[in-house]
Amino acid sequence: MNLSIRRILRKWLLRGNNVYCPCCRKNVSTFLPFGNVVRLNAACPFCGSLERHRLIWHFLHQREPKLIKDGMKLLHVAPERVFFKNFRREKQIQYFPADKFMPGHHYPRGTKKIDILDITYSDNFFDAILCTHVLEHVDNDIQAMKEFYRVLKPGGWAVLQVPIDYSRADTFEDNSINTPEEREKHFGQRDHLRLYGRDYSQRLIKAGFNVDCIDFCNMFPEEEQKRFGFDKNDGIIYLCKK
Ligand SMILES: [Zn+2]
Repeated sequence: MNLSIRRILRKWLLRGNNVYCPCCRKNVSTFLPFGNVVRLNAACPFCGSLERHRLIWHFLHQREPKLIKDGMKLLHVAPERVFFKNFRREKQIQYFPADKFMPGHHYPRGTKKIDILDITYSDNFFDAILCTHVLEHVDNDIQAMKEFYRVLKPGGWAVLQVPIDYSRADTFEDNSINTPEEREKHFGQRDHLRLYGRDYSQRLIKAGFNVDCIDFCNMFPEEEQKRFGFDKNDGIIYLCKK
């Protein structure tokens, strides 16, 4: 089936306005199921956003005082395509998408090569940093957080999100767990190096940040959470300030 017919068909099948995606600003009848352990109402059929993307995007654009400001320099680490496209369109910001460039991976055009353990920008360079679901893949995550702190301007903000098991008080790390199978078993994914617990914010504080843990999802009534397709279990935004 050709692509445009598929698009028209999808549009027709999903017509409705039960849910709303803040990332692509579209109403649809439902989000699609997604994940190895399938989650219903998860993926936007138009832009592919997942629960956490919609939560973060909505947060960045609803928060007062405004987080996205004209002329700001924004470092976006490991840019998710859904955010990348939107930030590119926000012409008023200076956008710095950046990634490590792993062999065999494709990166959006204009992405710069960086190592977050040793960022090649001067101190106090960026007004803001967005880095989601990256630090759990990084050996020395505290060093990466310290680098983010270093390149952030005083008064700047960073949103640094990781997957967290809120049933755990303490982050679980064990260097002897070093095979993909064991990592999947203990940390939840084959390439995760730890399982963060409720002490995650302490690590950010250790790196120098002032941290606001904002339960953004629960600021909305239940039906609104469903309408935006947020995940209650992943509803906290870690807003780090320098
Ligand atoms: Zn969308």
